[in-house]
Amino acid sequence: MPWNEQFECMPLADLRSFQLARLKETIAWVYERVPFYRNKLDEMGVKADDIKSLEDIVKLPFTVKNDLRDNYPFGLCAVPMKEVVRVHASSGTTGKPITGPYTAEDVDQWTECVARVLWAAGIRDEDIVQNSYGIGLFTGGLGLHQGATRIGCTVVPTSSGMTERQILLMKDFGTTALFCTPSYALTIAERAEELGTPIRDLPLRVGVFGAEPWTNAMRNEIEERMGISAVDIYGLTELGGPGMAYECQAKDGLHINEDHFLAEIINPVTLEPVAPGERGELVLTALQRRAMPLLRYRTKDITSLRRDKCSCGSTLIKMDRITGRSDDMLIINGVNVFPSQVESLLKDIQEVELQYQLVVGKKKHLDQVRLKVEARQDVYDAGPQKLDEVRNKIGNHIKEMLGISVNIELAAPKSITRSEGKAVRVIDERPR
Ligand code: ADP
Ligand code: ZN
Repeated sequence: MPWNEQFECMPLADLRSFQLARLKETIAWVYERVPFYRNKLDEMGVKADDIKSLEDIVKLPFTVKNDLRDNYPFGLCAVPMKEVVRVHASSGTTGKPITGPYTAEDVDQWTECVARVLWAAGIRDEDIVQNSYGIGLFTGGLGLHQGATRIGCTVVPTSSGMTERQILLMKDFGTTALFCTPSYALTIAERAEELGTPIRDLPLRVGVFGAEPWTNAMRNEIEERMGISAVDIYGLTELGGPGMAYECQAKDGLHINEDHFLAEIINPVTLEPVAPGERGELVLTALQRRAMPLLRYRTKDITSLRRDKCSCGSTLIKMDRITGRSDDMLIINGVNVFPSQVESLLKDIQEVELQYQLVVGKKKHLDQVRLKVEARQDVYDAGPQKLDEVRNKIGNHIKEMLGISVNIELAAPKSITRSEGKAVRVIDERPR
């Protein structure tokens, strides 16, 4: 049974009318309170009453990251600061921070959304959860803290970093669930092996990992090394943090909390909706938020939507794993490539670790991409001939699967900086 049967198993017709009512309320809410939206809606000549069906959402303006930056810090806030009980800010992966104000009601809804995520992952009140997401301005830490607290778990708020202590506590406390980024999970797994305390020998049984793109290849690696079941959680500061979408134990797409967020997929160039099931940019509208409800927010994250019947019983629409953000997309010899596609292929190469970076440079007028990936110790020790062989193997595999030529650099074991939060997968060395 899901955490909230009423909303997670709602018949489609009921859900749609619920969403339509909330959408109209939200439009009216921001029209009255946020000059930015009033101007935009007036310019386009739309009012809440013009929205007669969910399809009419295309009449509404988009909101983009720059709108948040232009109105930094609280220009898009729809309530007086007196009603704001919390402010978070993005980790700023791509520039100036984005602020996220919350009313008490927003915090409560957010907590509900995260409780659904954790419950779907199989987490219950008897679990001892170690929360190794950064606790602070970043939404990941407090978001998962609140959700786990609502379920009644024993929460250990370690925050990220100090990996050896994470492992010590995990062992001493008998931690059963871990929350962090997938790249940090791998860092923990690796360090624990080095310390002679492999995580698979500990009681840990489930991981809820997100905040950055990752692949099934990475999931398999973590699940094997830790002896756990790992699920994906998605969210962004702009819409209130993690808990927007989540994998159930079917691990086949992420259910979207549709009573709170209306999802669309658009073609990022034409800005038109894509055909059902097609990939494109995820666009989200907050349906119940109070402090900063955004209309048609362009996430820049690339995915697709499908309304499958799920074995978990949830009727919520699913989005596929995010392959990456459009900002991280590389164009190599005219082919669009996400780091995650390279990650998937590395899993087929036994001689390397899943520790990699794509270094983008410029030669004459052409972008050049170098894949830096760590060799396993025994491979590295085998000498130059073996390394050449592995380099060719990776180069050929990528060429064959993605149709691009990439220079391969086999890095020394442990030479790529280990992630404690969001891993840096792309290093741009192009002159600006
Ligand atoms: P920042 O933009 O500084 O990274 P956020 O912490 O708000 O700030 O990050 C939200 C972004 O992180 C999303 O838009 C998406 O690109 C990425 N993200 C979050 N969760 C996932 C996930 N499960 N899979 C892929 N990408 C994710
Ligand atoms: Zn499901």
